[in-house]
Amino acid sequence: MPATPAWPPLSAPRLFVDSDLSATASLTIDGAQAHYLINVMRVKAGDAIKLFDDISGEYAARVVATGRRDLSLAIESKLRPREPVPDLWLCAAPIKRARYDSMAEKACELGVARFVPVATARAVVDKIKPERLRARMIEAAEQCERTALPALDDLTKLDALLTGWPAARILFFADERGGANFADALAAHSGPAAILIGPEGGFTDEENAAIRACSAAVPISLGPRILRAETAAIASIAVWMAHAGDW
Ligand code: SAM
Repeated sequence: MPATPAWPPLSAPRLFVDSDLSATASLTIDGAQAHYLINVMRVKAGDAIKLFDDISGEYAARVVATGRRDLSLAIESKLRPREPVPDLWLCAAPIKRARYDSMAEKACELGVARFVPVATARAVVDKIKPERLRARMIEAAEQCERTALPALDDLTKLDALLTGWPAARILFFADERGGANFADALAAHSGPAAILIGPEGGFTDEENAAIRACSAAVPISLGPRILRAETAAIASIAVWMAHAGDW
């Protein structure tokens, strides 16, 4: 007796829907998502689509009908609730756009709960495009099977970030000038955390002193080499996830 194939199949396309799906029986997908499903994934009536809403969880839907620019879906079952997210924030100074987008993508894939763009004196970029960063994080979540999206803050000045810093959240300050061994610091400091990464030009002396004056700040070293900002972000998140996260 041939085994009944799993439904939805693992290969089913997976999409983020920006509305609460918990009480939704059917929906219409249009725009870029419809183009992707119809013209790239070539879905047809009866095919399965996985949907998640960053609110209630992930669902299995079936394609009811496809049009030229939209398709209608019927939600058939709930696959799983919204996952608990490791309590880690990434606070990072903007760098060149493509590399910053990539940093946001990797931070989402690695499991961070919040992405905080931080305006610093030496950052070569003083504006960010939140919609681009969010789009990159949505794509990453669709691909890595997250059901929860990282929160995305507006660009925040470093001094404002430090002034309003929640005392109960450890601020691991990645300082290329020197700091504690990260693994030792993680053994000594558990609980809600954040990692602060500077711009390509690094932090100024004044900024470095202000960060170190923050009671929650723990300066850490990421080794003897000067890492690019996005490498420092990805490496430090990975260490935290392996030590204190959900790996
Ligand atoms: N301009 C700085 C310099 O030349 O010394 C380098 C800045 S580095 C490209 C960008 C950011 O990555 C730094 O501000 C820091 O947050 C982090 N970083 C890079 N290498 C690091 C290391 N070995 N230890 C700790 N943090 C590091």
